Amino acid sequence: MSANRYLSEITIEQVHQRANYLCEYCHASEKWHYVKFTVDHIIPINKAGSNSIDNLALACFHCNRKKSNKISAIDEQSGKEVPLFNPRNNLWQEHFIWSTDKTLIIALTAIGRATITTLNLNRTRIINIRAADVEVGRYPPPGDPIQA
Ligand SMILES: [Zn+2]
Repeated sequence: MSANRYLSEITIEQVHQRANYLCEYCHASEKWHYVKFTVDHIIPINKAGSNSIDNLALACFHCNRKKSNKISAIDEQSGKEVPLFNPRNNLWQEHFIWSTDKTLIIALTAIGRATITTLNLNRTRIINIRAADVEVGRYPPPGDPIQA
């Protein structure tokens, strides 16, 4: 959920810097995108989330739009409702790993599975962009785990 008009420019810049200009969900880099990334309220304002930096995450337009005001989703494997990945409370590498060819995000946990499905993290268009970025060595971000 985007409510940037309630956030100061300083806060927005802090969120960008803290995230190292990566979408904190799909790990796309803002550097290579035409559209500026957005600030996501992890807990939406309309679900009593705050404008505190601890409730904010950098998200690409697509992830922010897909996440919308959701905070949980059904894990298809267990059929249980689980929280979505929370970039402030969860470590990306504990829930996700890149496929060997570095184009797919693979879930390691129920949270990972529900988040990949809900945010459509492996949509065709972004897989194509990732493949091109892998070719020129600008993807995935340094330090991200990759499946052996
Ligand atoms: Zn994203």
